[in-house]
Amino acid sequence: MFLLDIAGVTIPSFAESESCGERKRTYMKIAVPREQQQGEARVALTPESVKKLVAASAEVGIETGAGVHAGFPDADYQTAGASLMSRADLLPEADILACVNRPEPGDFAKLKQGVVIIGFLKPLDEPAALEPIIARKLTAFAMELVPRSTRAQSMDALSSMATVAGYKAVLIAAARLPRMFPMLMTAAGTVPPAKVLVLGAGVAGLQAIATARRLGAVVEAYDVRAAAGQDVKSLGAKFLEVDLGGIETQDAGGYAQELSPEALQRGRDMVAKHAATSDVIITTAQVPGRKAPLMLTEDAVNNMRPGAVIVDLAASTGGNVAYTKPGEDVDHNGVTILGPLNLPATVPGHASQLYSRNLTTFIALINDKGTLKIDMNDDILKPACVAYEGGSVHPKVAAALGHAVA
Ligand code: NAD
Repeated sequence: MFLLDIAGVTIPSFAESESCGERKRTYMKIAVPREQQQGEARVALTPESVKKLVAASAEVGIETGAGVHAGFPDADYQTAGASLMSRADLLPEADILACVNRPEPGDFAKLKQGVVIIGFLKPLDEPAALEPIIARKLTAFAMELVPRSTRAQSMDALSSMATVAGYKAVLIAAARLPRMFPMLMTAAGTVPPAKVLVLGAGVAGLQAIATARRLGAVVEAYDVRAAAGQDVKSLGAKFLEVDLGGIETQDAGGYAQELSPEALQRGRDMVAKHAATSDVIITTAQVPGRKAPLMLTEDAVNNMRPGAVIVDLAASTGGNVAYTKPGEDVDHNGVTILGPLNLPATVPGHASQLYSRNLTTFIALINDKGTLKIDMNDDILKPACVAYEGGSVHPKVAAALGHAVA
């Protein structure tokens, strides 16, 4: 028996398991690789979560340096009870691979059969990239597909990341705006507050409104879901209403529905009027599984004042703004249009903390006192699962891959 005594908690090392006389107890091994994607600074599990998982009878191995860019040094992981490992040693040992982004194609071959991969796997945007998981008979859960039910609220990683993105979008806009946000009364006269327009008042939009208000801006917001009006007003912003002729704009899950071209145009016409006098526009409008709706047309942008700043948070799904270039900064006649692709990674400390807590709650669903146990009838595990022991189990992913549902 090879035991480590760390911070008062006695656990077996990642490589060795506790053996009690004849019976050998093998603990579930959770591996946290260093994220490989360009610009990614988040880490899937923080030391705080490692401590909880170790207390819940799991072993945790972390690739050396995995948390450094998010502000979590290797020593903190060791204190929390994790083993530091090279990537080459870590991957073959894993029972669960806890990731932020989908692992690199070359990683899959190093994993043993039956491994469970959990992370943002882009199952609907890039389904073909899941083929190696299916070919290796692995199991994979996509955090994007965790249902937004009351029971799953503490695992809602999409909301966690949208919160961070909404906050940071306002900060980058404020840094690029040639004006200040708050109204100031100085000896040199009065400085008027910045006027901010937020399009889409879901999780990211509401956080953008709250952040802009804290900085002292005057804020207006529009969302196709009339129900969002109450949230917008409670944050001290003005809700812009459009007469869409009484059509249904929200589905049973609380998400926006795809609108008719006429309804979309009415929204755009109203938005264009308000855009002409806005200093900052933050766009967050999305419809799940569809291209993002165009909210600011070429004409609307052309009528904006030079110096105005637009941050298009829907850039990765097609963009809400006519001139958005995903991942690029565009200067269009003096109007700055930013299309950031991964804002949560630019606030890696708190983004990792929130994600790690979501992931740890999710892992608790498959951790039976240190043993991996998956109940595919569970109402969170089932919809979040894209592959189970090599079979396609998600109807939309299976359809995209041309597979039968296992
Ligand atoms: P999202 O990222 O899919 O979309 C962002 C916003 O864009 C939404 O508010 C949507 O209504 C809006 N939008 C879409 N098309 C538009 C258009 N043409 N014009 C104007 N606005 C448009 O949404 P989200 O932030 O993930 O959340 C959407 C809903 O889900 C909200 O009602 C939110 O409260 C709810 N939600 C519930 C839970 C939960 O119950 N656990 C968790 C998170 C979110």
